[in-house]
Amino acid sequence: MLITNSVVVEFLEIQKGIFLQKLKSPEIAEKIKPGQFLNIKVSEGYYPLLRRPFSVCDVEDDLIHIMFAVYGEGTKILANKKIGETVNILGPLGNGFNIDDDYDLAVFLAGGLGAAPFPYLTRKLNNNKEIISFVGGRSNKEVIKYQFPNLLIATEDGSEGFKGNVVQLFENEIKKFLDKKIKVFACGPNGMLKSVSNLIKRFNEEGKNLTCEVSTESAMACGFGICQGCPIQDSHDPNRYLLVCKDGPVFNVNDIEL
Ligand SMILES: Cc1cc2nc3c(=O)[nH]c(=O)nc-3n(C[C@H](O)[C@H](O)[C@H](O)COP(=O)(O)OP(=O)(O)OC[C@H]3O[C@@H](n4cnc5c(N)ncnc54)[C@H](O)[C@@H]3O)c2cc1C
Repeated sequence: MLITNSVVVEFLEIQKGIFLQKLKSPEIAEKIKPGQFLNIKVSEGYYPLLRRPFSVCDVEDDLIHIMFAVYGEGTKILANKKIGETVNILGPLGNGFNIDDDYDLAVFLAGGLGAAPFPYLTRKLNNNKEIISFVGGRSNKEVIKYQFPNLLIATEDGSEGFKGNVVQLFENEIKKFLDKKIKVFACGPNGMLKSVSNLIKRFNEEGKNLTCEVSTESAMACGFGICQGCPIQDSHDPNRYLLVCKDGPVFNVNDIEL
């Protein structure tokens, strides 16, 4: 884990309200695994006091990309950074996805800003694995399509692609591929992850063989396990909690209670 002042070198609005910021940090960039995150101090003063966590969206040489929408004060300050200004970043944090286990087909499942970690995951998997991506949102304006390979879309209002949620789309489509060894990588709101988890358990009870890692989200402060502010229940022991920042944010879906 390193801490650096990183210059904002590029800022793009990749679709309405969704921003991509490219930060220069050679020291951190070379250490990042897909699924890890940065904890960013968005201003030089004391306000806001807490750092804000963001998934690493991509790494291009010494540039780290983050993707975000303006949500509250921290993301508003971040979105107003000028090219050449700096932010203080702490990273890489968390465990990241395990990409080296045994599977033939990588399935990406993303809801809303859960799209953020997939460009770097794609870059790391490219040419080694077949990939199918399922991405959802309330309407087509909210679906983030950025750099997903072999993309299938679900919108709840039916404005594009399948009408319904992304997990329903996945359930319909994946039946065609159940002869393959499948690994699902999911990132999105916890409600979406819960229904992914239920579906994977059902498939496996029916004798299929899917593995699944989910990237979870929680309010957090320090980002590396000291403050204990981001507990998530261990599914194997009701008296034990794991930490999203240190033990996650990526978990095998069987290891946590969503
Ligand atoms: C691992 C991880 C990866 C993420 N990746 C992305 C991403 O790629 N893109 C993206 O847009 N968003 C991402 N998020 C969410 C992102 O961190 C929030 O959108 C962001 O913190 C909002 O900050 P804000 O100041 O704009 O909002 P605000 O609502 O003003 O502030 C939210 C922040 O306040 C603090 N906070 C609020 N309540 C509590 C509490 N009860 N206890 C402790 N702290 C509290 C936390 O630091 C929290 O993050 C991620 C979150 C996590 C945990």
